[in-house]
Parts: sequence; C-alpha cells; structure tokens
Amino acid sequence: MFHIADVKKFRFCPRFFWLHNNGQPLPRIQFVRMEEKMTELAKEKLNITSFFMGQRGDGNEVFQQGFLSQDWGINVRMEAKHLRIKVPLMHKTDDGYDIYFTYLGGKPRGDDVRYYSDQIWVMMELGIMVRDIYVIHLNPEYVREELLDIDQCLSVATHFYTSKGIPSHLITDAVFEHVQGLSSTLEEMVKVHQDTLPEAIKLPRCYRRQKCGYYHQCFPDEQSEDHDSIWTLVNSANKSDLVRRGIFKLDQIEGDMIEGDRVQYAQIMAARNNGLFFDRLALTNWMSKVQTPISFLDFEWDLYAIPPYPGMRPMEVLPFQYSLHMLAEDGLKHEQFLGVGDCRLEFIENLLRDIPSEGTVFAYNADGAEKLRLLELARQFPQYKEPLHSLAERLIDLAQPLFMGLYYDIRLGGAFTLKKVIEVINPQFAYGNLMIQHGLNAVELWRKADISDTLSEQLRQDLFAYCKRDTEAMVELFQYLRNLVK
Ligand code: SF4
Repeated sequence: MFHIADVKKFRFCPRFFWLHNNGQPLPRIQFVRMEEKMTELAKEKLNITSFFMGQRGDGNEVFQQGFLSQDWGINVRMEAKHLRIKVPLMHKTDDGYDIYFTYLGGKPRGDDVRYYSDQIWVMMELGIMVRDIYVIHLNPEYVREELLDIDQCLSVATHFYTSKGIPSHLITDAVFEHVQGLSSTLEEMVKVHQDTLPEAIKLPRCYRRQKCGYYHQCFPDEQSEDHDSIWTLVNSANKSDLVRRGIFKLDQIEGDMIEGDRVQYAQIMAARNNGLFFDRLALTNWMSKVQTPISFLDFEWDLYAIPPYPGMRPMEVLPFQYSLHMLAEDGLKHEQFLGVGDCRLEFIENLLRDIPSEGTVFAYNADGAEKLRLLELARQFPQYKEPLHSLAERLIDLAQPLFMGLYYDIRLGGAFTLKKVIEVINPQFAYGNLMIQHGLNAVELWRKADISDTLSEQLRQDLFAYCKRDTEAMVELFQYLRNLVK
C-alpha cells in the first residue's frame, strides 16, 4: 500500500522514493509554526458544524457509511489500487462532491496541480463524482487585529494565480486536465520498492534549487573531492553535461560552456589563481560606501502560518532575538536582546536604544532577512516607522561581495553561508564549539521554550552565544575583506 505522497517522491526520483520507504526517511523539519491543524481552521472558515471525521487506517467503507448520514467529511481516507489518500474536506451535494484541498501558503499557483489530480484519479477509480475543486489557503492581505478572524485569515480559491497574483486557470478545470491513469506508475513503484536500491545518477534534480536531502549519501565521494571540482560551480544547470564532456575541474571551463555569471567567473578565476580571487577595484568601491561607526546586526525569528499577535499577517515572522556588534575607534562593543511571547515592542525599543544613530549597519543576507524584518515591524508599530525605516536604509548586505562575485576563495566549495565563510577565513570563530550550531536548532529550542513559557538560564546563554557568534563572524569577515583590499 502506498500513500499519495509516495507518488510525488517516486516522480521526483525513484531512488529518493526507495530510500524514504526503506527505513531511511529524512528528518522532518518544521519551518513554519502552526499550532492548530489547517483542516480544523478550514472547518471553522466554512462553518461546518455537522460532519464525520476520518481516521488513520480507515477502509473505504468508513467514508461510504459516513456520507450516508452526513454531508461533510473531514480528513476522509480512501484507497484505490493500493493507493491511499486523505481528502482534507469533502462536501456531498446533489450533483456530486465538492473537494477542498488545503494549502499552507498564500495564493495557490498551481505547482501542486498534479498532486491534486492524482487524488482525483483515486476518487474517479472509486466511482466518486467530483463536482468542484477548491483550495483553502492563507489570505496574504489579512492583518490580525486583537482577535484572530479565521474567516478573513483564510480564503477559498476557485482559481490558481499567476506569480503576479492574478487569477489564471479555474482549479477544477486545471486539475481535471491533469488527471492521468496511475496504474502503470503504481506498478513501477512496486517493482522499485521490492528491488535493491536504484543507482545514484547525478542529475539537475539532485541539486537544482537546493541539494537533495540524500545528496551526500548518494554521492559520498564528492565530499572528498577537491575544492575546485566542477560540482562546486554555482548557478549552473550544466554541471552534469560538463562532466559527461570530461570537464571535472573549474579551471578547465571555457567561457561558452556555462551561463557565465559573475560568481562563476570568480570561481574559475580563483581556480586559476592559486585558490583566491578578488576584484580589488570593485571591492574597494564597495568598501567606500561604508561609514563609521560600523555595526553588525543579526536577528533570530520564528515564522508563523497564522498570525499570533495584532498587526501580523499570515506567514509573517516574529523576531525574538538580536546580537549587535559595534566597531568604533575605541574598540568593539556588544549588545544583545532575547525575549519570549510577544516581545516585538521590547525588541524595537531595545534595538533603537542600542544601535548607533549613524554609520553603516551590516547584516548577512540583509535584503532577504533583517531589512524585511525591520519593514514588517515598522508596519506593525507605526509609531516607530520612521526610525525603523531609516535603520533599514542604513543596512548593507555583507554577503554582497560573495554574491556579486567580488571575492571567492576556492575553499568555500561553492557555499556562501556565513558558517562556511568563517570556517575558511578564521576557523577560530566556527560554530563547532557551541551548544547551538544552526539557526533552525535555535528556533526549535526557542519555540519549545515560548510554548511552555519557560526559558531556562542555560538555554538563554546558549541562544545568546549562537546569535553572538553570527555577528562576531561578520566582524571577522568585514575585517578580512578590508585587509584584502589594503
Ligand atoms: S541525490 Fe539525486 S539520486 Fe540521490 S535521491 Fe536525491 S535526487 Fe535521487
């Protein structure tokens, strides 16, 4: 018996499916905080008061019986040809069933259309007449007031949306258009599942958006490969092709073989120049924008699907911690903050008090993180809009020299995280000796403390140490780059 999620895994990669189903599932990381189940909230949104609730392991007779006495079914389990599905919400009408899928995100863009179609195939195999299909999703425009209004927080989509938020295809039509027989896929899945582990073949799917969770298991040799291996080349869909053509090292690449962005150029030049490349002129120019006193800022935050406090939107974050290093003529100073619960106001007031009123403020990946957080807080607390906006304007992304191809050290191996960078430029500031070594780990521990409202002194110190290491590493990176251009 397979579950619908297995079909998705199998289509992605048969080896991925095999590993996942043969005792080696990847750990589940909960990026988004969601304390109530989406189906429960959808039930409230649709004002469903009378229904039957499906349970794990239900056979088809359960839903058939359920719909004899109820018009609504929630978490309805069914199976056809040994494929099980769980339908979040199902409504019986005189003309057939309306199906409500749930989506933990803003306006649905149709990426999951095939996943929905596969479930409709199971229903069609069982002779269920499907009338209309909807997707219940988070309403990105909703702003919470004192009380949560689930009716406003969730929306029911009849259409998929374009990337610009414009309604495109009718969901019912698009899903039906994609329905294809799954019988042969299911037969192949049985064969793969019963057979030995499929061979690992490196294809763009292994590394396209981010590395597959089994990547290092599938390609263990790569970890011992040289830093100038072709597999370290960033932003490239051509790596497999290059290897097939006998190109294994960065310095073998000729200009017309790759997409040719600036970071790739920096990588190739570093490979040809004893492992280090920097564009002195461009880096000097970038440095010239820096004004003293120089601050280094890092936030930690949790991401909530449903806004827990007034002023927040769905899928918005709550910053709960910062570390701030300040480099001035009289030396390096440090300030920090850590709160639980709705600590946003305290966070803002402490930050505005601690941070120098002028000078450059560095953050690593500032544009996609700290800057956004400051603008969100400014929207939520309009009384602090002006100072928060002005602080956001002073932010400079310390990752820019790497992302713009101004600097590359071959030992980075194509990774630009702050952790990797500090390992290369000054391992004394690496994270290995800390109790908390990853941001996700910090959030997970803080989340538990926040839910139980007990932040132990030990955890407090560990969280402080982790966040502080981020700004210490930034100071090191800045000084390293400054020395480089000197
Ligand atoms: S790394 Fe590639 S081959 Fe291995 S499981 Fe992932 S997608 Fe499949």
